Amino acid sequence: MGMKCATSDFSCLWCLIHKHDRHDMSKELKYYCEEPLKRTLESIKENAKNNKYSCAHRPLLNISLDHVVPDELHLMLRVTDVLTKNLVDEAVAWDHKENLNKAPCQRTTAHVDALKQAIASCGISFNIWEKKNADGKASGLFEFTSLMGSDKKILMKELPPKLKDILKPKSCNTIVQIWENFHELYTMLGESDPSDECIQTFFEKAKHWIVLFNSLAGECEGYKKTNITPYMHVMTYHMPIFMQKHGGVKKFTGQGVEKNNDVCRRFHLQKSNKWNAAADVLKVSKRMDNLSKCERRARAYLKKNTSYWDDEIKAKRARQRLTVVSSCTNNASETNSVDIDRMTALEIKQHLNGLGITTRLRNINKLRELLENVLLEISE
Ligand SMILES: [Zn+2]
Repeated sequence: MGMKCATSDFSCLWCLIHKHDRHDMSKELKYYCEEPLKRTLESIKENAKNNKYSCAHRPLLNISLDHVVPDELHLMLRVTDVLTKNLVDEAVAWDHKENLNKAPCQRTTAHVDALKQAIASCGISFNIWEKKNADGKASGLFEFTSLMGSDKKILMKELPPKLKDILKPKSCNTIVQIWENFHELYTMLGESDPSDECIQTFFEKAKHWIVLFNSLAGECEGYKKTNITPYMHVMTYHMPIFMQKHGGVKKFTGQGVEKNNDVCRRFHLQKSNKWNAAADVLKVSKRMDNLSKCERRARAYLKKNTSYWDDEIKAKRARQRLTVVSSCTNNASETNSVDIDRMTALEIKQHLNGLGITTRLRNINKLRELLENVLLEISE
């Protein structure tokens, strides 16, 4: 749509809210969707001429902004990213504080480990590591595994009760509440055909969630007014409007597109000769679509020869076991046998050494003779 990035001053696509006002929850639901703050396609085109209100270019597509619906999957992903980052930052800072007056050998990463363990206990593989500078030294910045949508959904459901034991007691309850309330909001966002009452409840709860999020400012890092992201503002002031207008936003979810991307990539890697990727993907999906109703039927099987199933099969299996055992012993004896004629003088001497015999002989024929005699004696 020709807009600047999410950190710009007026990053909301649907209204002219300044990034410093995103925390303000005193406005009514329609405040940002009415003149003078509402954006339209025409206003974006107009502002792009003067590079005003974070409009950098003319939109490439002429789609009315009423028909550009934010994707609930990415909204959830980006908000939970913020929440997870805050958890990681708190654990890292807590460890750092506790290690300040300790000798290097006594320093621990107890709180980071506890957080990793809590997330792993939800069945999600998750790691936290320190980024390194170009010279290989620790940078003091920490990164963590980027989780997929399905993992995030499990995390929202399972993690909050487990956070109680691993967070600072002072802010613990509020953070758990923030996680639980966001999960509730996300569930409400997925409802199809929500009633006006339901939408109003969603709006009130979303506003309350932002206030709750900000209530930790000053106590914990990452919950300040400036940490309210454009997605959080969109969730509060634009999502209810879209839910009202289109009868729920779940039908616009990007999950199908994401899944389609996965499927196409799998076809390309597993079922294509990679000469014409696009044609192969279309052909394979059409073929699978046509065959989707055909199922393999299990063949009926009757045990006709009862004596075979009762006795003969056991005898057959016992015979097979015997053959395997005897072939193993044969192989073992073959490896013990030595092809003396093909060995060099040095190899014969080493072999004799292995048998505990040292000799000064150098003549190859005499060495062969000696080894033959020794092996003969051993075998007798
Ligand atoms: Zn907005």
